[in-house]
Amino acid sequence: MKYISTRNRQIEVCASQAIAQGISEEGGLFVPQMLPKLTKERLASLVEQSYIARAQNILADFLTDFTPEEIEQCVQGAYGGGRFASEKVAPGVQLDADTWMLELWHGPTCAFKDMALQLLPHLLTRASKKVALATQQPQRETVILVATSGDTGKAALEGFRDVAGTRILVFYPQDGVSEVQKLQMVTQEGENVDVCGVDGNFDDTQTAVKKIFTDPVIRADMQAKGMVFSSANSINWGRLVPQIVYYVSAYCDLVQNGAIALGENINVAVPTGNFGNILAAYYAKHMGVPIGKLICASNKNHVLTDFIRTGQYDRRRTFHMTTSPSMDILISSNLERLLYALCEDDQTVADWMKDLTANGVYSVSPAVKEKLQAEFYAGFCEEEQVLETIRTVWEKQGYLMDTHTAVGFAVREQYRKETGDNTVTIVASTANPYKFSPSILRALQGESGQVDEFAQAFMLSAHTNTRIPQQILALQDQPRRFETSCAKDQIAAFVKKTLDL
Ligand SMILES: *Cc1c(COP(=O)(O)O)cnc(C)c1O
Repeated sequence: MKYISTRNRQIEVCASQAIAQGISEEGGLFVPQMLPKLTKERLASLVEQSYIARAQNILADFLTDFTPEEIEQCVQGAYGGGRFASEKVAPGVQLDADTWMLELWHGPTCAFKDMALQLLPHLLTRASKKVALATQQPQRETVILVATSGDTGKAALEGFRDVAGTRILVFYPQDGVSEVQKLQMVTQEGENVDVCGVDGNFDDTQTAVKKIFTDPVIRADMQAKGMVFSSANSINWGRLVPQIVYYVSAYCDLVQNGAIALGENINVAVPTGNFGNILAAYYAKHMGVPIGKLICASNKNHVLTDFIRTGQYDRRRTFHMTTSPSMDILISSNLERLLYALCEDDQTVADWMKDLTANGVYSVSPAVKEKLQAEFYAGFCEEEQVLETIRTVWEKQGYLMDTHTAVGFAVREQYRKETGDNTVTIVASTANPYKFSPSILRALQGESGQVDEFAQAFMLSAHTNTRIPQQILALQDQPRRFETSCAKDQIAAFVKKTLDL
């Protein structure tokens, strides 16, 4: 299986190169030249398998230059050995006759990013070895640069900590993450990790980090030092491919427990930021998983809702800090992959991305807009509605959801009301509620009068009789290792200094 760049389809690489490199040199993203197919027979055989076996099966189709043994080691290393609190890895929880919450947050950092970032280091270290062998170059140290809206940073740090041959540098918007998210990062252990707060928002941070990747001077300095950049952001194909697995697996689980018959359509609703998670569902659909509508849910930063409804992507708007910080994004990087899939024209995609950078806006053709709307329903959720949703679902169904998940759930309800479509739906549940205790507590009780996050977590636990995850409790006693912060135009300087370039 070959991968090509969304901005230049002449650039053709194998899976290990796509993963080792992270982003194509001209700024495009790697996408598979064509998608592997899941027939009904193959789905039927997957129904009988464990999560780990399903993952091996799907990954083998995408990572054709990995041996089956290598894939098995990677998958076991990521999802085996009790690293996930649920034996099913990503269990489904039924809320009503038509609604299943796909809980993607049973990994070590309590957010769905673990699903990909527990696997990525295993894929990446093997991919780098393969690339070095193929090019007869000495293997270089891989430096992972991450811009995070909160959850990616911690999940990447945890995945890469003390992985031989790698270093990781994480940048986060200083005032744009929750207290628990921040504590999770600044207390990170490991000899190969660095964390820095940025005086700016996530888009500023992501833009600066992306620029460093393609900066020719920095790249040359890296090369001279025997280092090479890679990305743990969802622009890396190695982040997306593990996410495809859980949609296939979730479908198999629904068949297995009798919620649907094999071949029956489901819908999928996803709280969306950088468009990675919902894109994985789109790929699963086009591999052959019977999925009808993809429901794209945004918070108050609803640039994607507007895009899907109008065909115009316009980031020239106010950026809002919301109670779902991991979705506070105005430039959804992975949308580029969808655009390529819809128009299959690298030049057009390159032009749109150029327009976005230069003018903050681009418009797709009527034909592309039509395709987009056939696949996706889009909606957004105001802040009050997020809290209202958390409270109502807790009171009526006894299910406690986090703020991001609530956005997904609420937009799915909008869709159901608007269309009367009662197809069985999977709602992606993306974080453990205790990552965002103050907001959840406010939803259930109103203002608590407490400022301390942990005090609020204890109140939430007492109020709902639910358990605070051990990893979050433990943060109270861990030393803060990384207190540094920098201006948004100082990120490159920080990277150079840290890497001694
Ligand atoms: C990252 C994240 C999202 C958004 O996922 P994308 O793949 O960026 O669209 C939603 N919820 C939580 C909790 C997240 O961490």
